[in-house]
Amino acid sequence: MNKVILIRFNEIHLKGGNKKYFTKLLLNNIKYALKDIDCKIENIQNRIVVRNYADEDEIINTLKFVFGIHSISPAVEIESDVELIKYYISKIQISKSFKCDVNRADKSFPIKSNDFNADLGEIILNNNNEAHVDIHNPEITIHVDIRENGKTFIFHEIIYTYSGLPLGEFRDGLLLLSGGIDSPVAGFCMAKRGLRQDILHFDSFPYTSPQAKEKVITLARTIKNIIGAKYMYICSMTKLQEEFHIHCSSEYAINLLRRSMIRVANAICDKYKYKTIITGESLGQVASQTIESLTTTNEVAKYPVLRPLISFNKEEIIKIAKEINTYNTSILPYEDCCTVFLPRNPIIKPKVADAQKEESKIDLESLLKYVIDNIEVIEL
Ligand code: ATP
Ligand code: MG
Repeated sequence: MNKVILIRFNEIHLKGGNKKYFTKLLLNNIKYALKDIDCKIENIQNRIVVRNYADEDEIINTLKFVFGIHSISPAVEIESDVELIKYYISKIQISKSFKCDVNRADKSFPIKSNDFNADLGEIILNNNNEAHVDIHNPEITIHVDIRENGKTFIFHEIIYTYSGLPLGEFRDGLLLLSGGIDSPVAGFCMAKRGLRQDILHFDSFPYTSPQAKEKVITLARTIKNIIGAKYMYICSMTKLQEEFHIHCSSEYAINLLRRSMIRVANAICDKYKYKTIITGESLGQVASQTIESLTTTNEVAKYPVLRPLISFNKEEIIKIAKEINTYNTSILPYEDCCTVFLPRNPIIKPKVADAQKEESKIDLESLLKYVIDNIEVIEL
């Protein structure tokens, strides 16, 4: 008998001809996630099995963030032998309603599922005075999964994870990460759909503090494994913001800053071959997140800007931020570059033409070149 953790995946079954590729990707991602934990990982048909580990919780908590996994069960693994299965079932102690659920993937197993359910149910009843069968609404379901490879898994717990798709091989996304609550969650949401991302952060040193920068690096390291990130780009917007402040209409300050952020992101995508930009914007959350504001930012984007939180309420975002362990860091009270030179009356319905007019008041091109040339790259 072996104690194992059984991993199931479902959505990748849908991918027809790509199934093999997705399964391999998932297996590699699982191996990577568990690389620092002593254990053995094996791919059997339609299941991945982890064995020879010391700490079950450690494995399960790590696997929760490997996308493409549908559910996880701690199980015992035995040979698919009728008497042996009956023996293990006879050891089960329960005092609740239950049912047995035999899955006979191995069609050569000599007893049909329904008959075996009845046999095993009877064994449990005989050994547990307070247990009773409830087929429709049992408190406990004893699963007996008889696989094609001659092994049987017995388990009762099914832990559902985030599902989604396995993180891709390539870091195709560039996540704009601020120090706030939203952007780490945006990274998580896109990673759930298989988008591996690196990170871009803007600061306004010395108007923003070194602690503010450290906070965002901490956030980046917290989500690094979840989003598959390797590099973080840090770009100082100070020179640009000072010029906007001196020469341009203050009500356009945030708008101009956001257009510049996208232009810097464009340049990084060009250079390092990212294919899409991700932000934590949510419709109507602040003045810079109205349809008109998003339109003026989109106008300068060379790559698709993905905004997975666009329809999320703040409570929904906070719930995920807590699950991915970023919330407590995000709420530390350091300033962000968006709060430096914050106008008293930011424009709510900006116009592209007016934003362009404001930009024409400064030498935007050389300022952008300056900030891009001075980007710092950190390996996470
Ligand atoms: P967050 O909670 O993620 O900071 P927010 O509600 O404060 O978001 P904004 O400040 O308008 O909203 O920012 C919207 C999005 O723009 C952020 O989610 C992030 O993707 C990006 N962004 C804002 N500030 C920065 C920054 N300093 N560096 C990188 N990206 C930023
Ligand atoms: Mg912010």
